[in-house]
Amino acid sequence: MEYFEPKSIGDALSLLSKHGAEAKVIAGGTDVMVDIKFKEEPGALVNIKKIPSLAGITERGGSLRIGALTTIRDIETSALVREKLPVLWDACRQFASLQVRNTATIGGNICRASPSGESLTPLLVLEANAILAFSDGERSEPFKTFFQGPGKSAAGAKGLLTEVDIPIPPAGSKGVYLKHAVRGAMDIAMVGVAVMLTPDAGKNNAQDVRIGLGAVGPTPLRAPKTEALLKGKALTAALIKEAGALAATEASPITDQRSSAENRRWIVEALTRRGLEQTWKAATGKEVA
Ligand SMILES: Cc1cc2nc3c(=O)[nH]c(=O)nc-3n(C[C@H](O)[C@H](O)[C@H](O)COP(=O)(O)OP(=O)(O)OC[C@H]3O[C@@H](n4cnc5c(N)ncnc54)[C@H](O)[C@@H]3O)c2cc1C
Repeated sequence: MEYFEPKSIGDALSLLSKHGAEAKVIAGGTDVMVDIKFKEEPGALVNIKKIPSLAGITERGGSLRIGALTTIRDIETSALVREKLPVLWDACRQFASLQVRNTATIGGNICRASPSGESLTPLLVLEANAILAFSDGERSEPFKTFFQGPGKSAAGAKGLLTEVDIPIPPAGSKGVYLKHAVRGAMDIAMVGVAVMLTPDAGKNNAQDVRIGLGAVGPTPLRAPKTEALLKGKALTAALIKEAGALAATEASPITDQRSSAENRRWIVEALTRRGLEQTWKAATGKEVA
């Protein structure tokens, strides 16, 4: 196996072009090193950790830009993320152990494209964009089209994710991420649900509701029928119950070693209900009637 440490995005892209499907990018290595140990070694390992421009969190024109090399711990401890993007902050604080969060990067979590990846449903409901660099130029790809299947993304073998562009939600919008796993944060999510709710000006109705479902399909999913059911309405216990049941039908889980498909649907229903109750209360100051 050949090993490279490019110092610029251009050098990294040249290496990816030259080595094609043989090449593997490594950032924090928490997924790649496990693959090398238990699956296979790539022909060329391209370590991007020495490219300084790829890390950091900045606010720019109504968006937060998070560099691909920013660690999950940096996001978890960012006051800016906690204030402006609570749904992403909530997911990062429930991510693995402190040791893993200190090393794992958001770019690695995204490019791994695992349906259970903790940051993915928050990015979907935030309607964020992946900024991708290729040898022939840069492009912005919405996360709704970025994920193409387990382990497959629009970055492909020759692209580099450089940063994530996240529009800051309207003031008053609230978000939560709820994870169900056998060993809590130490385990990969059996189901993850991200909910964002923006109230109307009078805090009487949900002006916008976005729901992201993780680990219940080949990619992280939105629940568009459930969102449509809730938009423009005051959330009542009966409506939330109906929404939970509808969200379960929008999931397409599989049975695997972590859970049966049927159990995953029940968890989607329960977490969606809980997420709606919590965001409604936080956004309007009212209990669910
Ligand atoms: C003990 C343990 C617990 C874990 N718990 C969780 C958990 O609770 N939740 C969770 O979501 N994940 C978890 N993971 C998985 C892993 O930590 C995350 O997916 C992590 O975010 C990967 O980031 P990394 O920087 O380590 O990526 P790496 O391992 O370096 O790379 C991951 C993938 O992304 C590609 N890649 C990385 N950066 C880029 C880039 N900028 N451009 C293009 N491709 C890139 C790599 O080629 C590789 O395919 C766990 C892993 C371990 C070992």
